[in-house]
Amino acid sequence: MAAPALSPASVAPTLPAEQALLDARFADLARAERLLPLKVTAFYQAKIDEEVAALGHTEGPLHRTAHPTRERFAVHAGHEVADWVDDRSNMRVTGSDAIIHKYPDRVLFMPTSLCAGHCQYCFRQDVLTEQHEAGRTRVAEELGRLVAYLGTVPEVREVILSGGDPLTLPLRDLKLILETLRALPRRPAIRIHTRALAFAPRTFADPAKLDLLAAADVRLVFHFVHPYEICDAVRGVLRELRRRDVRLYNHFPLLRGVNDHAAVIARLVEDLDDARVRTLSVYVPEPIRYSAPYRMPLDRVFAIQDALTTGWPGWANAIRFTLDSPVGKVRREHIVARDRAAGTVTFRREGQSIVYPDFPAMLDVAGDPATMLWRG
Ligand code: SF4
Repeated sequence: MAAPALSPASVAPTLPAEQALLDARFADLARAERLLPLKVTAFYQAKIDEEVAALGHTEGPLHRTAHPTRERFAVHAGHEVADWVDDRSNMRVTGSDAIIHKYPDRVLFMPTSLCAGHCQYCFRQDVLTEQHEAGRTRVAEELGRLVAYLGTVPEVREVILSGGDPLTLPLRDLKLILETLRALPRRPAIRIHTRALAFAPRTFADPAKLDLLAAADVRLVFHFVHPYEICDAVRGVLRELRRRDVRLYNHFPLLRGVNDHAAVIARLVEDLDDARVRTLSVYVPEPIRYSAPYRMPLDRVFAIQDALTTGWPGWANAIRFTLDSPVGKVRREHIVARDRAAGTVTFRREGQSIVYPDFPAMLDVAGDPATMLWRG
């Protein structure tokens, strides 16, 4: 049963004392419901502390990414599932939970289930929690399975390292993976998805790691979600990566209360572009369990997209808004039907259809741009 609509005027902001109780309560919820527990690096928490001090409450954008809000306990959209993108049915290698093959030309490899910090909105938390319970992944063993599998699928041209966060691996493991892949006869392209730079720039402190990324000619895709994540420490690492000619990109979710306004997205994209990081796409959060605090109706997603594309210069217009789904990534142009009474949207891609349960408008409380951009 959906909770009643909330409106900014009817809800008092969460004060730090109440937040401490919410954090404690969340530890129990995470254990019982198999969500990722709180994990915040000292670096990121310092930014959150600054935000709370400036705002006087805990509804700020960075806080919202890492700590639970009241809505996390109380608001559910209905039709929420554990594994919307269907990772498990695409784990095609017997004995492995680290290899996901969904698209013909690329394979996802998850060499670790660990991340530098945990994101409240993480869409893979069900799979990651299961892997945490099963114990640490043995990198060499899974890599051996990956190499054997790649030998059977010549159409694969790219290996995407994701997770968990591959850049939290010890250097020797990362080296083993990258050098093994580079030595394969068909030499797949390598892409790495990471949020470690937002959480802990010191993850990139070792020049040998940066040299390794450059030597493997990787594409690095960061998941920055808010412009205040781009600070001097982050820019310093980006400079070092650029100096080594590493290709840098960003890809991020549109998150209610974090960045759900054209002004926030524009600031993030422009700050990254100034740092020579190209934004590839913005994705709609998946309807997984307990995701309601971060989701919004597609109509509002499209309104944000339109506000950006009509006001943006040409270099930013190539940024795509996508929704990941069991049939692959779908976009606005893939919509073939909408049932507003039932709250569903049907997408069709390459002959396959998927019915998406849209987020109910009555639960949507848009983020306040003055809070999300509190520095002005
Ligand atoms: S870094 Fe990525 S995989 Fe890890 S918790 Fe955040 S969103 Fe999930």
